[in-house]
Amino acid sequence: YHAKQKGNHYLFFNDGMNEQAVKRLQIENLMRFGLKEDHFVVYYQPKMDIKSGALVGMEALVRFITPKKGIIPPNVFIPIAEETGQIIDIGEVVLDKACRDVKTWIDAGLFDGRVAVNLSAKQFSLPDLTTRIDVILQKNQLPSYFLELEITEGTVMDDPKEAIAIMRSLSARGIHLAMDDFGTGYSSLAYLKQFPLNTLKVDKAFIDDMHSERGRNMVDSIVTIAQNLDLHVVAEGVESADQLTYLEALNCQTIQGYYYSKPLSYEEFTLFLRNHHAQKVVRPKLKVVAN
Ligand code: C2E
Ligand code: MG
Ligand code: MG
Ligand code: MG
Repeated sequence: YHAKQKGNHYLFFNDGMNEQAVKRLQIENLMRFGLKEDHFVVYYQPKMDIKSGALVGMEALVRFITPKKGIIPPNVFIPIAEETGQIIDIGEVVLDKACRDVKTWIDAGLFDGRVAVNLSAKQFSLPDLTTRIDVILQKNQLPSYFLELEITEGTVMDDPKEAIAIMRSLSARGIHLAMDDFGTGYSSLAYLKQFPLNTLKVDKAFIDDMHSERGRNMVDSIVTIAQNLDLHVVAEGVESADQLTYLEALNCQTIQGYYYSKPLSYEEFTLFLRNHHAQKVVRPKLKVVAN
């Protein structure tokens, strides 16, 4: 009996492992199919200036929409795509679509800022990265000025010296660079000042902790470091008016989060831009009337 139970336990354990492996393989296959069938869609989340309420940019966020399994979230498929290398093709699709979409908004006179695209570690270390980016920008007739790339600490701390060289070649093209999820990785302050960064994005985990004084002090410290290094600060994952008030008091300029908007589809974001644009046109007129 005992042995049999042990046997069952062993079988069960084995099945569990298989289940996970099967699931990964399933997602890998779905991604291969999805790349062929155009199942990767790009959503956009606005980045707003706290003081003026103006739109300063947007982040492109990939969505994997499968006909059979529905939407598979990035946190599920991105790590697998990183392992299999499929992130390189997926990343190019996202960059291409983001450039195409932002070009239509610029041409329509609805926007003239930057679109931020997440760049994975695998993409970052491609020897022909800059050529690939140039090709996509050219294809979409988008000047590099309109592009920002978000990279994480893990990506640059793998080989910081090499990372600085790659970042310089991107920066020389006028592409802006943001350090994403700042504070969650292992980047050292010694390197932080050497990286040619424009922006530091404070990770949502720190924003979530702002209900406590210690949490607010932490964000204060990060914002101060960024400002001392002449970096622009974006707080990500801002959900409440309280967080907004604290961030404004800490002199953080830009916020991104559900408080303003969730990531939006191309059609939804176009509407968002039209409304935003209309508001901006209307506001000064109202002021004149009030005077
Ligand atoms: P990230 O680059 O840090 O993107 C911000 C994430 O926070 C997004 O999740 C966004 O939807 C979410 N978020 C923003 N504001 C709020 C908020 O107020 N509350 C909550 N609960 N969440 C908020 P998403 O779209 O699920 O993406 C997760 C991660 O997947 C991204 O984190 C990024 O690391 C990765 N990712 C997404 N798209 C791409 C891509 O095209 N390429 C690569 N390499 N990675 C991507
Ligand atoms: Mg990001
Ligand atoms: Mg982030
Ligand atoms: Mg994050």
